[in-house]
Amino acid sequence: MVNKTRGLNVSSIKLRNRSLILRLLRDRGPLSRREMALLSGLTPAAVTNLVNEMIDQGILKEVGMAQRSSKAGRRRILVDIDKERKYIIGLNISTRTTSVGVSDMDFNLLAHEEFDTGGDRSPAEFLNEISSRVMQMLWKQSITKDDVLGVGVGIVGSVDPESGQSNLAYGIWSQPVNIRRILEESLEIKVVVENNVRALAVSELSLQKHLGVSNLIFVKHSPGLGSAVIINQSLFYGSTDCAGEIGHMVIERGGPLCRCGQKGCLEALTSAEKMIWEVKELMRRGETPWLNLNSDEKSLVMEEIVEAYEVGDVGVIRVVEMALEYLSLGIANVMKIFDPQRVILYGPLFKSDQIFQSILRKIDQLVPGSNSSSVVQLSALDSDNKIIGGLSLVLERLFFETGATSIGGKTA
Ligand SMILES: [Zn+2]
Repeated sequence: MVNKTRGLNVSSIKLRNRSLILRLLRDRGPLSRREMALLSGLTPAAVTNLVNEMIDQGILKEVGMAQRSSKAGRRRILVDIDKERKYIIGLNISTRTTSVGVSDMDFNLLAHEEFDTGGDRSPAEFLNEISSRVMQMLWKQSITKDDVLGVGVGIVGSVDPESGQSNLAYGIWSQPVNIRRILEESLEIKVVVENNVRALAVSELSLQKHLGVSNLIFVKHSPGLGSAVIINQSLFYGSTDCAGEIGHMVIERGGPLCRCGQKGCLEALTSAEKMIWEVKELMRRGETPWLNLNSDEKSLVMEEIVEAYEVGDVGVIRVVEMALEYLSLGIANVMKIFDPQRVILYGPLFKSDQIFQSILRKIDQLVPGSNSSSVVQLSALDSDNKIIGGLSLVLERLFFETGATSIGGKTA
């Protein structure tokens, strides 16, 4: 992982132990000091010291008493993370739209805005515009910069998380842009930047639903197709930050041209754009009976295609099933290489149970014995919250990983 702890005057053991306690509380909810000691392997005295210090710093709080486990047992005070004390700013920059918002540490959105990414602004002008929107948002919510844990940015394309630089972002800008430097200079708040699909994968892994899961592949469909690989609870980047580019695996030699310049990429065969384009062709020929009656070809969106599939539109079923064939092939190939505990599917396509079941059947045939129905799962993330990836990044990198050492000051 990237080392984000340089310069902090905290011993690495202490940092690791604080981090351990915070993650226990994240995954299991309120615990007594005794339970924390049992679960972490730390001595009760060490836990008491660390917990009391973090309570003094406003990171943890006592939240009531645990039920007695036996009549003779003493009632114990439960401790939890104080999630109301700090705020997080999340930002998602996609090809067409940019979303920015502020939430508490439980991801409850207090304010949120969405606007066009495009325009003829330079990258710096665009990012400075985002900064002023953030400042206004904080001002309206009466939140000071000191109350903000950080800004988490998810953006399409290749990102160097250590420097916070976007190396390549198709359709947004054509040169490397150091997002972190520009935003930190204007906001004077810590910024973390990551590829948007990797940010979502971090978010997914931190959900309580995946307790005990260390290896996970996260697949995001629509508008394009991307994935992120998590091995031993850490993002896997590969040697040039390009690991997980499932969308640009060549699945059909000499197939349709992809935006990356290759032919026959999985994305070129299965993206929402491709499916919408194919369905529109059929609509023009009157071969999609339900859509022809219920939708307008010019404004057709993925959600309508999913609906038409579910009501049995023959033309739509043909297009979707063909895309699912390729998609399942791509996912099955990735499963054979990584043998993950979970494959998580994210995007409007997968919200249809019929489509999801169709994918499971296809994967079962391609990876016999994979028990795909327990391995392949629908994402539990709230897809209406466009900035959840950025919000999770901040919590993960600036709170859990650092043992919250940036809060409260006196931690030496
Ligand atoms: Zn491609």
